[in-house]
Amino acid sequence: MSFSSETKAELCRVSMTKPCCVQAELYGALLYCNTFTHRELRVVTEHASFAQRLERLLHRAAGISPERRSGEDGAGKIILGLRDPAALEKLCSLYGMELERSPSHHINLGVLEEDCCRVSFLRGAFLAGGSITDPGKGYHMEFITSHYSVAREAAAILRELGFKPGELARNGNYVIYFKQSEIIEDLLTTLGAPLAAMEIMSTKVEKEISNKVNRCMNCDQANLDKVVNAAQDQLKAIRSLEAQGKLKGLSPKLREAAQLRLENPELSLSQLADIASPPISKSSLHHRLKKLMEMAEEHEE
Ligand SMILES: [Zn+2]
Repeated sequence: MSFSSETKAELCRVSMTKPCCVQAELYGALLYCNTFTHRELRVVTEHASFAQRLERLLHRAAGISPERRSGEDGAGKIILGLRDPAALEKLCSLYGMELERSPSHHINLGVLEEDCCRVSFLRGAFLAGGSITDPGKGYHMEFITSHYSVAREAAAILRELGFKPGELARNGNYVIYFKQSEIIEDLLTTLGAPLAAMEIMSTKVEKEISNKVNRCMNCDQANLDKVVNAAQDQLKAIRSLEAQGKLKGLSPKLREAAQLRLENPELSLSQLADIASPPISKSSLHHRLKKLMEMAEEHEE
């Protein structure tokens, strides 16, 4: 199941208690569903739990039972439809809409006076016209409707509740969206999906940990590469001196350094200094190896 479906399934488990909120949630779903005009209500969804919840909302708020069909394409879609003029009129009058006009152009804030109802309205809107990206892929939550004023007014409701959405138009639809994970977490919790919010949080923590581990590993690898490259340069210099028969003529200290490196090509400078006998400091070994490299370079020139 996609994260969006999981989130919607969780929202569909929110209990329907207050009649005011039942009515408000239905209102959000109607304004954000596929078609709601004075001639027809048509909701197409792939979420069985939402289809069921919408049937209950319609029944509880208005005593209406829509027709239920499966999608023709057999892709698991469910279509809820209503064409009965009396039932549609009842729905419209519930929200103070005029039947002659297309009823979905504005949000009637009069029926959303309480915060509980505003939250319920947004839950219905999200269930019907919302989606959320899997947190493993990114942070994006959106509500999409074909009604410009509804989008503007829903954005205003969100702002009043403390959530500032982005707004954009896409293919003739109006989208309000959120991109910040903390805001999405808060909004999901407010709407009634705290488990989905927690999943975003834990995914975020996992991502941070794996980024840190990767950074450490890259850093270790870089250090290792440096050690190997330095040792390779030193070995090359020492072998070139050896080939020229110049090793024998060196001072005992330089000869010892050359010998150490030849015998231990894989060790870092400090490991090499530790196994010298008697032990020497890392910096004096560094000077000796540097001197050997300079000599080899002089020779080459
Ligand atoms: Zn309420």
